[in-house]
Amino acid sequence: MEFVKAKTILTKVKDGSEWYGVDYNMNLYRGCSHGCIYCDSRSNCYHIDNFNRVRGKENALYILEKELSKKRTKGVVGIGSMSDTYNPLEIKYEQTRGALKLISKYGFGVSIDTKSDLILRDLDLLKEINSKNNVIIKFTITTPDDRLSKIIEPNVCMSSKRLEAIKILSDNGIFAGIMLNPVLPFITDKEEDIKALVRLASEYGAKFIHTYMGMTLRENQRDYYFNKLEEHFIGLKSKYIKTYGDKYNCLPPNYKHLYNVFANECNKYGILYKMDDIIKTYKKKIIDNEQISLF
Ligand code: SF4
Repeated sequence: MEFVKAKTILTKVKDGSEWYGVDYNMNLYRGCSHGCIYCDSRSNCYHIDNFNRVRGKENALYILEKELSKKRTKGVVGIGSMSDTYNPLEIKYEQTRGALKLISKYGFGVSIDTKSDLILRDLDLLKEINSKNNVIIKFTITTPDDRLSKIIEPNVCMSSKRLEAIKILSDNGIFAGIMLNPVLPFITDKEEDIKALVRLASEYGAKFIHTYMGMTLRENQRDYYFNKLEEHFIGLKSKYIKTYGDKYNCLPPNYKHLYNVFANECNKYGILYKMDDIIKTYKKKIIDNEQISLF
C-alpha cells in the first residue's frame, strides 16, 4: 500500500448535532475504490488526486493513540466520512481494526459510515466498545435493487448484503441503520423503491433510516457522474442539465411528496428517521451514565 504523510488523524467536530452527534472525525485512508458514480468526495474542493486509488495514512495508529490519550472528553469518533474505511486494503493492513482497538482501549465511542460487509470482521471490537460507550453503524443503501446498486456502487457488496450485515449487527446489540443518501433524481427516486427499502429496513432490524432525499453535484464530481450517466442511463445527462443546470442541490421534482411517503413508512414500521431522535436513542448510554452520576 502507498502511504501519504499525516500530521494529525483526529479532528474535533464543532457541532455534531447535524451529523449523528459525532464528537471527533477521522479518515484512516485517502481515496476510495468502491467507485460510487455519485461520490461527493471526488469534488475538486477536497484536493484528492486520483481518488479511486486508496492510500493509507503514514503512522496513523501511532498518531491516533497519542491523540486519544490526550483527549479529556471520551466522545464518539466518526470514521469514514470521506472514504470507506472498509476498502479492500483493510483486509490486509487492518488500520481500521487497529483504530477500533485504540478506541476501545481509551474508552471512546464510535460511529462508522460504510457500504461494506467487511465491517462484520470487527464485530468483536464493536461489541467491546458498545459495552462501554456509544456505537452507531450507518450503512449507505440507495436502492433495494441489487442490479441497480451494482451499477451505481460497482465495487462494493450489493444492497442485500448490506442489509444482511445490518441484521447481524443488530442481532448483536449494535445500533445499526441506513443512510438513504443520496437519492438520485430519475434513478433511485421511485416511490415504490423507497417504500420497499423502509420495509426491508424493518425486516432486517435497522434502527433508523436517514435521508436527504436528493443529491448534490459540484465540479469534477459532476463530470464523473455525467460520464457514468452516459454509460449506463441513456438520455439522462441531458435531462439533468435541463432540470438542474449547474445547481449544487439536485432534488427529485417530487421530493416533498417522496419525503412524506418515506416519513409515513418509517412511522408505520416504527423506524427512527429524524436526526435528533437517532442521536438521542443511540447516545442513551451516556445520558444514562450522566443521570446515574447526578444521583
Ligand atoms: S463509498 Fe463513499 S467515499 Fe467511497 S466511492 Fe462510494 S461514496 Fe465515495
